[in-house]
Amino acid sequence: MKTLKFKNGDHMDAIGLGTWKSEKGEVANAVKIALSNGYRHIDCAATYGNEAEVGEAFAEVFGKGDIKREDVWVTSKLWNNAHKKEDVIPALKQTLKDLQLEYLDLYLIHWPVAFKPDVSFPEKAEDFLSLEEVPLIETWKEMIKAKEQGLVKHIGVSNFSIEKLEELMNDTDHLPEMNQVELHPYLQQNKLLEFCSRNGINVTGYSPLGSGDRSDEMKADDEPSLLENPVINKIAKKHGASAGQILIKWSEQRGTAVIPKSTNEGRIKENLQSAGFQLDEDDLKQIADLDDHFRYVTGKFFEMEGNSYENIYND
Ligand code: NDP
Repeated sequence: MKTLKFKNGDHMDAIGLGTWKSEKGEVANAVKIALSNGYRHIDCAATYGNEAEVGEAFAEVFGKGDIKREDVWVTSKLWNNAHKKEDVIPALKQTLKDLQLEYLDLYLIHWPVAFKPDVSFPEKAEDFLSLEEVPLIETWKEMIKAKEQGLVKHIGVSNFSIEKLEELMNDTDHLPEMNQVELHPYLQQNKLLEFCSRNGINVTGYSPLGSGDRSDEMKADDEPSLLENPVINKIAKKHGASAGQILIKWSEQRGTAVIPKSTNEGRIKENLQSAGFQLDEDDLKQIADLDDHFRYVTGKFFEMEGNSYENIYND
């Protein structure tokens, strides 16, 4: 499988396991299945509400000794209610405690959006802090401190547009090492990828299969299915692969990391096996034509009348 390289020589496997919406009773098992079948990259976040269960799986697997902590890349993310400088490192320490780890491989600012500290998910404009109240650079400086303290090996961001990345880059010499964003054939984000590549920022693609299991209010009425797309299925047939494998391979072959979520043993294994074949130029051309700037994770839940977070993706 491909790996993504970091400036200090560290490598991250391109295919990892996502854990958003992985239920508490299922996620530890999914992580154990993934690790025992060759995954070495797990994507977590405080807001997924399941880091303690993921931590139980890590403790069990690392405790047995067959797989060592240092062999697995663990990413987590700072939630939006801990952007104030005094809250960043305590939030990270809680994540480390829950995951039963001494350090993270990668810690990301989950969104360029800040909530008040006691708000888990906003319901009204007053639940937010504006970027004037908590500038991104304030949060970023604490991320740098966390790295200097050895609590995390690498730091980055998530859901950052080119404009947001530029804003941060104007204020610091320590660039984000990663931008984790939604990426799949309906949302190819070529400009953002080109910008990140030019600036030495690695990219991880989320919701590579078109996401699943979201509540109805998070879904658009006319949401198209990626897994049922006829072009993807035709290419899948040609390679004797599944539609999911084509989508994962497409991301990996573009040079990004990709973190499909599954709690199903068969699909966890199937997704990792996407590394085992190549898409040819004709496949890539057909998939390139599918781009229509469609987002599954719209970010609209952060746009409320009276707050300053309109159009956070800037497109
Ligand atoms: P995905 O695009 O990974 O899709 C997951 C859905 O696809 C689940 O319903 C899963 O069901 C199903 N599935 C998994 N494998 C297959 C397969 N081979 N064939 C058919 N169906 C399959 O969705 P996510 O939105 O969860 O994105 C992946 C990960 O990205 C998240 O889990 C999270 O870690 C990260 N993420 C990060 C965000 C951010 O803001 N930084 C936002 C969104 C996601 P089942 O479990 O039953 O297999």
